[in-house]
Amino acid sequence: MTLPPPATPDPTPEALLRTHPALHEDARRGLKLEGVALAEIAAQVGTPCWVIGAQTLRQRARALKAAFGDAGLKPSFHFAVKAQDHQATLTLLRQEGFGGDVVSGGELQRCLRAGMDPQALVYSGVGKTDDELRLALREGIGQINVESPEELARLNALALELGLRAPVALRVNPDVDAGTHDKITTGRAEDKFGIAAPEIIALYRQACETMPGIEMRGLAVHLGSQILTEAPYRQGYQRLAELVTQLRTEGLAVHTLDCGGGLGIAYRDEQAPEPARLARVIADILGPLEVELKIEPGRWLVGPAGVLVSRVIGTRAASEAAQALGSPDFVILDAGMNDLLRPALYEAWHGLLPVAPARGAESDWQEVDVVGPICESSDVFARNRRLPPLEQGDLVALLDAGAYGSVMSSTYNTRPFCAQVMVDGDQWRVIRPRQTLEELLAVESVPEWLAEQA
Ligand SMILES: *Cc1c(COP(=O)(O)O)cnc(C)c1O
Repeated sequence: MTLPPPATPDPTPEALLRTHPALHEDARRGLKLEGVALAEIAAQVGTPCWVIGAQTLRQRARALKAAFGDAGLKPSFHFAVKAQDHQATLTLLRQEGFGGDVVSGGELQRCLRAGMDPQALVYSGVGKTDDELRLALREGIGQINVESPEELARLNALALELGLRAPVALRVNPDVDAGTHDKITTGRAEDKFGIAAPEIIALYRQACETMPGIEMRGLAVHLGSQILTEAPYRQGYQRLAELVTQLRTEGLAVHTLDCGGGLGIAYRDEQAPEPARLARVIADILGPLEVELKIEPGRWLVGPAGVLVSRVIGTRAASEAAQALGSPDFVILDAGMNDLLRPALYEAWHGLLPVAPARGAESDWQEVDVVGPICESSDVFARNRRLPPLEQGDLVALLDAGAYGSVMSSTYNTRPFCAQVMVDGDQWRVIRPRQTLEELLAVESVPEWLAEQA
């Protein structure tokens, strides 16, 4: 599959450093995340390796809260745990006043393990099992966002069985196209998420009048991810506001609105809206309704705080036939699509910087395809990327890998999970050791009927 060439040239390494303030170029020690040289981490824990910056996370968490404060809002913030679920990240964000937005019983348990208050958790997702819903109810979860009439009936029955009431918001499908990648847009009528707006009123009333296990709190919406313009938010929240007015006209109480997440970041040269813009949209449209607001950011908080450090395994010249077609030489990394899936899954563009201090004149730079070692043609991190000469053993950093990075890893091709490191200013710790091959294999067993005679 070939993509149309991008409309603008790739940003230069200087431009990437300017737009990624967590990263610094140290003339002697090379690329640093916050105060720590990535080469030092790679030397001690090996590659590939995820590195996340705690100071950067804190700054982003505070900037987000400040943006809403400046718009005169006091929402509660629920980090979308699926973007980066490590307990160190969850602990840090809890310390910054964040709760969690979870999409599975496992994520719910993680948040509790990281010390989050169950009341600060929102449970979203189209497929919650009975066991997961029971767990959420028993733990006293703050809110369950229900995605269908069937789920609502099932939750009512489960709550009654347990002698509890389920705090619920109905997730509205506002039929808005978020204008983002097809695989991460969630608010169109044909997507599997949420309840169509025209069906909301009747269901809300039904729950209030006939379902004693349901405590109807309000409505929720989530339009998709990596949203880069204000318009879909305006449309989605307008829908929500109309529904609130209608519900109240019919005498039904609405206490809370969950605004979802989706705020995009600049991986390449996207003009991502600042949180202040989102806050103003919400203040304009939902502020006058006087409801408790919830915000569920994932990518915006953690994406720019993380990198994936990888080492060049080797290079390979393009064949003559490939050269004739204009294909460049290959740089082969020790990280693959099993580690960072986004380029293969979403055709995502990630910045890529050599870790060593810049070498050689710009005239020596060449366009290369940067690929992983996996036996799949989609295992490509960058095509026709203009980079300084890279050789076997050189380190590179793939940028903006903090969101939907480590969480999507697999052990495909029997490649153990990478090490994870947290940097905090000048200090750093391994927060997950590299999985050993022994650990990976130890959980497998061969049925005894296949065992050979001794
Ligand atoms: C994924 C998700 C989010 C977070 O999306 P981001 O694009 O990472 O901000 C928020 N709410 C729900 C319901 C989600 O599924």
